[in-house]
Amino acid sequence: MTSSRMLNLNQFDLTIVGAGPTGTLAALSATKSLHPKTICLLDQRKTIGKPDHCAGLLSITGLKRLGLENLPSEVIQNSSVYGAKFYSPSGRSFSVKRPTPQALVVNRALFDQHLLKLVQKKGCNIRLNQQVKNIHFQKRKQKLHLYALSRDCLPQKKIIHYKSKIAIIAEGQQGRLSHSLGFESVSSKNKLPATQVIVEGIKDLDQSKVEVFFSNKIAPGFFAWIIPLSDTSAKVGLASQKGNAWKRLQYFLRKYSLTKKRFSKGIIKKRFGGVVIIDGPIKRTSTTGLLVVGDAAGQTKATTGGGVITGGIASTIAGEVASSGVKANDNSREFLKKYDQSWKQQLSKQLQSMVLLRKLVNRLSDKSLDKSFETIIKNNLDRIISEKGDIDNQAEIIFNLLSNPSVISLGFKIIPDLFLKS
Ligand SMILES: Cc1cc2nc3c(=O)[nH]c(=O)nc-3n(C[C@H](O)[C@H](O)[C@H](O)COP(=O)(O)OP(=O)(O)OC[C@H]3O[C@@H](n4cnc5c(N)ncnc54)[C@H](O)[C@@H]3O)c2cc1C
Repeated sequence: MTSSRMLNLNQFDLTIVGAGPTGTLAALSATKSLHPKTICLLDQRKTIGKPDHCAGLLSITGLKRLGLENLPSEVIQNSSVYGAKFYSPSGRSFSVKRPTPQALVVNRALFDQHLLKLVQKKGCNIRLNQQVKNIHFQKRKQKLHLYALSRDCLPQKKIIHYKSKIAIIAEGQQGRLSHSLGFESVSSKNKLPATQVIVEGIKDLDQSKVEVFFSNKIAPGFFAWIIPLSDTSAKVGLASQKGNAWKRLQYFLRKYSLTKKRFSKGIIKKRFGGVVIIDGPIKRTSTTGLLVVGDAAGQTKATTGGGVITGGIASTIAGEVASSGVKANDNSREFLKKYDQSWKQQLSKQLQSMVLLRKLVNRLSDKSLDKSFETIIKNNLDRIISEKGDIDNQAEIIFNLLSNPSVISLGFKIIPDLFLKS
């Protein structure tokens, strides 16, 4: 094989860095207008999806929107989540429920591998064990040069050189590459360490409801969750702005008054974790030749940290804009800006309203959280949440609640928390 032929093997129209859900969805979207052989998906991992880090709670409407309504049965861990139960620090609680299932719990490693198989079936180039270290834009040729460390031959270092007209960066929450390319980073104070375990032998578990616990003692800046897999097993986890998340989770499992009895016979089967982002999206997500998607662009829900659906919606748009850029032979900043405009039009209002709610909730002391629960329960606001709440589109319910007279009157009662806390 000649060296020029070998070089061509690494030359693509569109290169995607990161084969998590947003990278694979961008690739799938691009195959609608580009020849799959002109698309390359690179990932530093040898096995996609591993190690697993995510709870895998995905809305059914969101999955449909991404064209993923028919997931293979082995990916799905629980298909009957109808609602949720929320607990205040002192144990007040309310439930919201819909008549039909609202979410699936998926095995994230198998979910990511399923998406990769779809990309593979389309015929795209997939190169694993390749960590992209640097991307350089060659102005004269209007081309990107990507340099990836191939981990296949470690400890020997081998750098592989790729050329591409356009690249989509889907590298996840660390955002090292996008930061080195001049994109804004998600601030570290809004990246919360999260940890979770799969526990078997839990008492009083309802497979149809996710449980959410608010308490500054347990999970300051976020919440603790129980995501049922069956009537006795669940993914149990928390994220926290302060302290050691693992120690906090152990406290939640063994000592917390609201939960300790339910876990007394529980057996921990697996421990995993990662980082949840509660910052909202970065401002600019494209430049000449480059687009950033998913966690790297902060396209997550600040209320829950969930980013598979929202990041997936944005990355599908990125795939469309990148492929039309390739076809028009235009990788200019001006052209690729269409991606920013389009995803913002679809998601900005939703994501920003969730940032607002997250900021408000994070200002509340445990006493104020209890008062808020009292207001919700006393005024039957749980019924409004049941009717209007949506896992991904939370803007409507957030503004509906914030303009409710009982919530406004609550606001006056908790003014010191809301406005005087630094
Ligand atoms: C504890 C926890 C629970 C969560 N629960 C949920 C949930 O229930 N529902 C939900 O929707 N979201 C949840 N999330 C968030 C969700 O996991 C992320 O939003 C989602 O994984 C983002 O997808 P992504 O493709 O942007 O990034 P990732 O899934 O992180 O994928 C990034 C990929 O890029 C690769 N990569 C990184 N750098 C490079 C490089 N330089 N070169 C090559 N490859 C590279 C990585 O190997 C990885 O495969 C949770 C997160 C955590 C931490």
